[in-house]
Amino acid sequence: MRSSLSGASVAVTGGAGFIGGHLVAALLAAGARVTVIDNLSSGSMDAVRPFIGNSAYRFVEHDITTPIEVAADAIFNLACPASPVHYQKDPIGTWRASVIGTANLAELAARSGARFLQASTSEVYGDPLVHPQVESYWGNVNPNGLRACYDEGKRAAEALLADMARLGLAEIRVARIFNTYGPGMELDDGRAASNFVLQALRGVPLTVFGDGSQTRSLCYVADTVQGLIALMQSDAGAEPVNIGNPSEITMKALAEAIIELTGSQSELSFLSLPPDDPHIRRPDIARARQRLGWQPTIGLEDGLGRMIADFRARMG
Ligand code: NAD
Ligand code: UDP
Repeated sequence: MRSSLSGASVAVTGGAGFIGGHLVAALLAAGARVTVIDNLSSGSMDAVRPFIGNSAYRFVEHDITTPIEVAADAIFNLACPASPVHYQKDPIGTWRASVIGTANLAELAARSGARFLQASTSEVYGDPLVHPQVESYWGNVNPNGLRACYDEGKRAAEALLADMARLGLAEIRVARIFNTYGPGMELDDGRAASNFVLQALRGVPLTVFGDGSQTRSLCYVADTVQGLIALMQSDAGAEPVNIGNPSEITMKALAEAIIELTGSQSELSFLSLPPDDPHIRRPDIARARQRLGWQPTIGLEDGLGRMIADFRARMG
């Protein structure tokens, strides 16, 4: 991996997704040549349309559960549905993308010498019994519940990558990404932030699951992307690094903030809480601060304002 991205050749799996689209834009802006590999299952060509015609950009429609050969100095592996609605729609496909897809790409990295960054997740901590979540915490995951296809898939991928690093087979980086939001999320993505913004702008009730006391810590997408790039370029090694914003909020407070920021007349509608839904989540980001010199810079009100403007524009 070169120290500068300028002229580097980078593959981004899942590059037509929400975070992937922003990551590709940042990599191209830094002078990298980028190959997006995506099967367009939860992503769409809308995310990559701005890059069409850029000679440094290439799109390959491909499912990572089948091996692929790509020449690259670095591989960002983001290919996996991330919204619970999407990853539970095809749970076996989700598990296969996480486990078999990651194995295929990590083996490509081992063969080619490319540095490999895995988009892992705060879901490896499950419904955490340690708060905030520090990377040394092993987690509390239901291994056969509705979320297991995603959580255990990502945990199995981490296990494989840790062994590949220990055996010296590939240069590995693992980002445990916490809830990310911002412009460009699919309107029907199904996650809390996108649902609430869409519902507030439509003037329909905001669907709060449970009593809304469960917490998440939302990170603006540009901050997440800078964290991923910093990790890829760092000498942090293969140990996982939390990438998230430690500012924690209940889902009820998030819904109320979005009603206020949109000026909506919508009310809250309380629906049943899905099984195994984590009741708290907040990253400890000391490791990211120390090893990457990274921390988030965009506050929730600012970030939600940008997301609301984007949703307004796309809803017409
Ligand atoms: P997303 O669903 O918007 O994007 C995922 C992309 O991967 C889509 O373009 C989809 O078409 C593609 N994809 C899925 N399965 C594939 C396969 N088998 N082969 C090729 N392409 C495939 O999700 P996102 O929010 O952009 O998340 C990106 C990555 O970050 C995921 O790996 C996710 O697990 C991780 N992550 C995201 C968050 C978050 O809050 N967004 C939090 C933690 C981890
Ligand atoms: N949630 C909610 N209303 C929605 C969608 C989600 O109250 O319309 C809740 C969900 O139950 C969870 C939190 O918001 O407690 C975050 O959900 P999301 O799907 O955004 O992400 P994840 O559960 O994967 O953290």
